Amino acid sequence: MTAATNAAPAAAAPLIRLRGVTRIYGRGEAAVAALRGIDLAIDEGEFVAVMGPSGCGKSTAMNILGCLDTPSAGEYRFRGVPVQTLDRDQRALLRRRHLGFVFQGFNLLARTSALDNVELPLLYRGEPRAARRAAALAALAGVGLAGREQHRPAELSGGQQQRVAIARALVTAPSVLLADEPTGNLDTQRGHEIMALLAALNRERGLTVVLVTHEAEMAAYARRVVRFLDGRIDSDRAQAAAGAPAAAPTAASAATAGAGA
Ligand code: ADP
Ligand code: MG
Repeated sequence: MTAATNAAPAAAAPLIRLRGVTRIYGRGEAAVAALRGIDLAIDEGEFVAVMGPSGCGKSTAMNILGCLDTPSAGEYRFRGVPVQTLDRDQRALLRRRHLGFVFQGFNLLARTSALDNVELPLLYRGEPRAARRAAALAALAGVGLAGREQHRPAELSGGQQQRVAIARALVTAPSVLLADEPTGNLDTQRGHEIMALLAALNRERGLTVVLVTHEAEMAAYARRVVRFLDGRIDSDRAQAAAGAPAAAPTAASAATAGAGA
């Protein structure tokens, strides 16, 4: 794993670069080309929304970015390191150290407290108990859930559950947060709160955020919108993010606004 984690990054290499990435599921007559040649570079500190109709390859691309899947052809470089040259264990390490995930369905352990859910990635890393606890408490406070550490997912609202999932993704201090339709299971108000939180994390901590959404009002929080169509990139545009920095809530206030909901 030395290559991706310890070596000096290649000069000016983007955080993420896809070149000619294709992904074909199945074979023969049943083959589906989910990605048909994706070229995409994302720099440290960006806030990117990926949009496009259902089935256009958004989740396939996110899974490749997250090292959960590999391209059929083409290249993925993370900080200049060609991911396909890493073996399985090295890819797992890259994932654990540098990538945070948030899913539409939260994916929390149901019988486990918010605190224990957030501690889990640190447990896998072999961190000592006291350090795990301290980091998880801080991560939960950072998403406005101080005081709810012992609640189980069923005792929390959807918006709160997604905050726990965000805290779990961030507790390892990843380089990038990958979120596949993080507001898809939430009502509009809760969705806006989650987006305001992600925007504040991007702005205040410089966290790189790549999120999939099909809702224009959620994509409006991002500073760049990449549209997929039929396995290809249809457009890629910078935009002014919703809410000028002066008017936008801070991470703490964005978190607090949704804490009780
Ligand atoms: P999106 O997230 O944009 O809705 P996906 O990336 O999930 O799209 O899917 C892109 C295409 O690949 C779709 O046609 C989908 O049916 C197909 N697909 C996705 N996952 C698989 C899979 N595991 N096996 C076969 N086909 C798949
Ligand atoms: Mg999808």
